[in-house]
Amino acid sequence: MSYRQPQGLPLHRLRANLAVKFVVVVAGFTALTLGLTAWFSYQSYRAVYLEHQHAKVVILAQFVASISPDRIFSYDFVSLHSYVRELSKTRDLTYAYVVDNKGEPLTAYLDKTDPLVMTAIRAAGSEDIRKVVAQINQLPEVFSVSAPILFNHESIGSVTIGATRRFVDDELDRILFWNAVAGIALVVLLSLGIFLVFRHNILAPTQHLIAGARRVARGELREPIPVASPDELGQLAGSFNEMMHDLDQSNNERAKALDELRDLNRTLEIRVEERTRAIEIVNIELERLALYDALTHLPNRTLFQDRLEHVLKTAEREPEPFAVMLMDLDRFKEVNDTFGHHTGDQLLNQLGHRLVATLRDTDTIGRLGGDEFAVVLPATNRESAVRVAHKIFETLKQPVQLETMSLMVSASLGIAIYPEHGSDASTLLKHADIAMYQAKQSKSGHCIYDKELDTHSPRRMTLMNDIRGAIDAGQMQLYYQPIVALRNGTVRGVEALARWTHPEKGPIPPDQFIPMIEQTGLIKAFSHWVIDTALRQWSIWNARGINEAVSVNLSMLNLQDREFPAALAQLLTKWSVPPHALMLEVTESAMMSDPEHALDTLNHFQSLGVDISIDDFGTGYSSLSHLKRLPVNEIKIDRAFVKDMRYDKDDEVIVRSTIELAHNLGLMVVAEGVEDVETLNLLADLNCDLAQGFYFGRPFPAERLHLIGEPQLVRPILEVKRS
Ligand code: C2E
Ligand code: CA
Ligand code: CA
Repeated sequence: MSYRQPQGLPLHRLRANLAVKFVVVVAGFTALTLGLTAWFSYQSYRAVYLEHQHAKVVILAQFVASISPDRIFSYDFVSLHSYVRELSKTRDLTYAYVVDNKGEPLTAYLDKTDPLVMTAIRAAGSEDIRKVVAQINQLPEVFSVSAPILFNHESIGSVTIGATRRFVDDELDRILFWNAVAGIALVVLLSLGIFLVFRHNILAPTQHLIAGARRVARGELREPIPVASPDELGQLAGSFNEMMHDLDQSNNERAKALDELRDLNRTLEIRVEERTRAIEIVNIELERLALYDALTHLPNRTLFQDRLEHVLKTAEREPEPFAVMLMDLDRFKEVNDTFGHHTGDQLLNQLGHRLVATLRDTDTIGRLGGDEFAVVLPATNRESAVRVAHKIFETLKQPVQLETMSLMVSASLGIAIYPEHGSDASTLLKHADIAMYQAKQSKSGHCIYDKELDTHSPRRMTLMNDIRGAIDAGQMQLYYQPIVALRNGTVRGVEALARWTHPEKGPIPPDQFIPMIEQTGLIKAFSHWVIDTALRQWSIWNARGINEAVSVNLSMLNLQDREFPAALAQLLTKWSVPPHALMLEVTESAMMSDPEHALDTLNHFQSLGVDISIDDFGTGYSSLSHLKRLPVNEIKIDRAFVKDMRYDKDDEVIVRSTIELAHNLGLMVVAEGVEDVETLNLLADLNCDLAQGFYFGRPFPAERLHLIGEPQLVRPILEVKRS
């Protein structure tokens, strides 16, 4: 429905139009009625008048005829003429004449004042009564009446009178004129009266109604229409007022409803806004969850790969090299197993922060999962990448402060350089991973990808294949390195270290082939061979009077092997070696990976009477107090702490406190990797029990190991220091 403003006429024109139409109609009808009435009364009046005139003329004629015989018989034509003249006094008589039997005129009268008569005389050409009358009688308004003059019932002549109807018509015209005047006056008065009544009773209320309707159209509903009369218009005005009232009320209600609707809308808008904001937040959160690691808030694998692709594209365009690094914490699993996941999480989190602080803003660092971090360094060549790796290791040197303890962490980092080591993201990542694996194996910290070291490289495949037959083919050999007692400089024992000389590729370092042996499932047989060989060697030495203990290294997998202690016992019996002549070196991490199982096996070894040494001590996370519960006789402080202890105060402190605590627990302490006399003297000052390293001798085949049984070679060095 549309509420268009009506384009009405102005009120005064409306008023004029209606009134004029009404008055014209009423006046027209009245005038027509009056006109018709006047016309009919005129006609009937005229008929009556004319009859009356005719009768009068007849009577006059008969009267003259009745008095005429005497005068005719007495030839008194003068009297007769005076009668006729007397008749002429009647205004509407035009002529009168009397004729005798023969039709001869006895007397005649012509009203010469009448212009008709004069016209007739002129037309007749004489005043002869018969000719003039004949002329006059042709006129329609003239009529004639004759009456016989009788005497004794015999006609002696006749009287003829001519009269004109003109005066009757004139009279009637006059009456008609005044009647018309009166009629018109009546019509005018009537119209005026009707107009006034109409205006008062119809126009004014109608105008009020119209004005009211226009107010309604404008939305003004408060001013009611005056109700002047109880008639239909008054009722209409009343109904109109009621309607306006209802409309006003419903308008109010509508306005109220509109207000409520507007309020509702506003609430709805606010709700929608709130929802939208919540959804945005959730979206941001979802994106964060999808792209960022929840623990460290670093980019996750997805985002990291995306960034890597991005850097790759830029590098392709420029073109310039860039570096991809993968870093894996060493023995992180132990941290989790020993201190719980909460500590592990804290550690990762802090390391994440450190790495971010170490790198530039343009570098991307992500956590790919577990303890594995990845870095992409745009516009970076091999040398710069190595510098960054050093920087990272520098930051890792600081122990990580956790809620309840501080932990030392070490990591292995692999580097791949674009385009040298790959031209797509997945190859670069794969090669950085291989380099990292190499770094872990060699404990070298970082390693740049080298095709030669690639697990999937042909070289490695060959080695993996060749190692299976290496023992049987006699390619394996044991070298021995002396372990010297600092107290007196005597050789306390030797450590057996495996060597593999490949027929084509030459010597392969144990850091490379031991993991291969572990992977190919040969470790059981290999360790069996090592112990067998070492014990055989001991029995040879023993025969020469040398009975210092021989240490052999065990793999983590040997500790999982339930049959291993029995096999060991068999070998001891086989070579008739007293158990205390054998020392088993087990790494800290090997014990931590499955502590229950390891403890079981170690107890077995102990029950056999074999001594146990914890190898590479300090690189894992087993605390000394934890060691207290293990059947252990000795710990070997890892080379990493020993090699720089001369310059590095921290290392010295670690070595010193480790020695003290170990002594408190009744354990012997071996320092690994002693390469110079200063370190040796420092260790002697710290009351370290034993030392091993290139300073005393590199690992050699048994036949070349002349230190055995010749402690005097060592002693002078100690004495130099003491003097
Ligand atoms: P490890 O048990 O810690 O052995 C000591 C390593 O330190 C030996 O490396 C030795 O040559 C080296 N070394 C000794 N003194 C010095 C020194 O003064 N300076 C430096 N820089 N290094 C020194 P090697 O023989 O290459 O053996 C590496 C690792 O391979 C061993 O570390 C051990 O974990 C493993 N391994 C060697 N032989 C065997 C074996 O028969 N069985 C098992 N399971 N593992 C073995
Ligand atoms: Ca060892
Ligand atoms: Ca060691």
